This record gives sequence, structure tokens and C-alpha cells, in this order.
Amino acid sequence: MKQTGAILWLTGLSGAGKTTIAQRLLQELQARNYSVELLDGDLVRTHLSQGLGFSKQDRDINVRRIGFVANLLSRHGIIAIVAAISPYREVRSELKQTTTNFIEIYVQAPLAVCESRDVKGLYAKARAGEIKHFTGISDPYEAPINPDIICQTDNFTVEQCVNQVLHYLERQGLMSLVENNKSSQRN
Ligand code: ADP
Repeated sequence: MKQTGAILWLTGLSGAGKTTIAQRLLQELQARNYSVELLDGDLVRTHLSQGLGFSKQDRDINVRRIGFVANLLSRHGIIAIVAAISPYREVRSELKQTTTNFIEIYVQAPLAVCESRDVKGLYAKARAGEIKHFTGISDPYEAPINPDIICQTDNFTVEQCVNQVLHYLERQGLMSLVENNKSSQRN
């Protein structure tokens, strides 16, 4: 039996919890022996999208690049986890239509909660006008209208959010909650 690939696309405001959930999902799937990769927005901007800015055009290019790589992985049976603000609805919809098993996960917390967390101190800088085009403050965020999963991180723990995603994957037949036996795949 071959593993089915998928793209777990986590979208949401800065500080909503995308990276935290993505890293825990990575661990949980690895522990079950799934082939899985994490494409984190910050790292992608350093490597794949260096030089791109934060205009709508550049953000859309960034998202399409991540989607391209995630799709290569997904169509070869790997679970690609993406953590990226990806603020524009249209380009996310485009990816859902053109990629293999795209699962849109809205990592949701009110702006005030994200701002109070201010994990990287970016909201303070954005409020002070030191960062322009900051999503939620001086740049738009278009929330998904019909996401596959909503993780409400102000009401649920990281573990509950991660389990929500794992149960969804199981219901969709994309993974089993028990350990995946890679050696039997090779036979
Ligand atoms: P993002 O990647 O969306 O910018 P981070 O994952 O870097 O956000 O930061 C989210 C912060 O919120 C972390 O400090 C994390 O511990 C906290 N947090 C609280 N509850 C949750 C939850 N249910 N899911 C994810 N993060 C949570």
C-alpha cells in the first residue's frame, strides 16, 4: 500500500499559531512513519523567495512558489505541511483547484489575541510604523470562506488543534492514526 500525499496548508495571521501547529503535526506524522516535509513561510522567504517583498503581487508569487513545491511533494506521496500567512483568498483557491489533496486549514485567533502574543515583536513594530504592509495592521488578510478545518487557537490547546487535523486526515483516508509501516510499503 502506497502512502497518499497531501498538502496541509495552514493560513492565518502572524501569531495565530501556524508554525507551532505545523511543527507538532510534523512530529506526530514522523512518529507514525509518514514521509512528511514542512515548508515554513519564514524559511521559504530566505531560500525560495529571497528578494520578494510584501506587495500583493509578491505575496501571490511567494504563495504560488510554495504551492508548486508542495504539489511536487504531494503528488509523490509525501505529506507537505505549509505554514504561511498567505493572506489572499484567490491564490489559495487557485492552489486548491490545481494541486493534489490540498487541505486548507484556517489557523484562527482574533487579531487582538495574536497581537498580545506578539511572538516575534512584529506587531509592536508594525504599530509603530517601522514595518509597512503588515498583515492585519496595514495589509489585508482575507479569511477562508469555506476552509476544510478551522483551528481556533484562542479556545483550544495546541494538542487539540493538532488532533483535529489528524482526525480529519484519518476521516479522509489520508492516514491511519496507528503507526504507518513503511517497510511493508517497500515490499
Ligand atoms: P504563526 O506561525 O502563526 O506566526 P506561532 O506559531 O509562531 O504563530 O506563534 C503562536 C503562539 O501562540 C505561540 O507562542 C504558541 O505557543 C501560542 N499558542 C497558544 N495556543 C495555541 C494553539 N492552540 N495553537 C498554536 N499556538 C498556540
